[in-house]
Amino acid sequence: MSLSLPPQAHDHLGHTDPNCLFCKIVAGKIPSKVVYQDDEIFIFHDIHPWAPVHFLMIPKVHIPSLAHVNESHVGLLGRMMVLASKLALQEGCNPYPEGGFRLLSNTGAEGGQEVHHLHIHVMGGPRPWLKG
Ligand code: AMP
Ligand code: ZN
Repeated sequence: MSLSLPPQAHDHLGHTDPNCLFCKIVAGKIPSKVVYQDDEIFIFHDIHPWAPVHFLMIPKVHIPSLAHVNESHVGLLGRMMVLASKLALQEGCNPYPEGGFRLLSNTGAEGGQEVHHLHIHVMGGPRPWLKG
């Protein structure tokens, strides 16, 4: 009897998509400028920043979009919100209320989503910005 596991058993209990750009970034197969990571969350700089500060927060597991979350993800999403505020300041956003930051999660085609792995943009810094 073989003891080898199916390929997906090595990847977060199967919760990765081998064709997904952001799963490849989490796995280190595509390089990124990492801001923060822990067991469940990975945060890195956007490759085409719209604002002086622009990073992306993603779950390490492959969740295609915000349209796919349920009650089991409440803790994960809450921790991402708390990290957004803390890391925005760390990465150079000015403090509230004169400064601040913007969160954005494009969801689905009409929502403008291009990468189908849940991500929350965090943008900030002095204006003008390229977009938004
Ligand atoms: P969207 O799906 O439209 O919300 O945005 C996807 C974002 O991913 C865009 O802002 C891209 O600039 C960004 N992006 C695409 N490829 C990479 C990459 N290799 N590293 C970092 N950010 C990326
Ligand atoms: Zn993915």
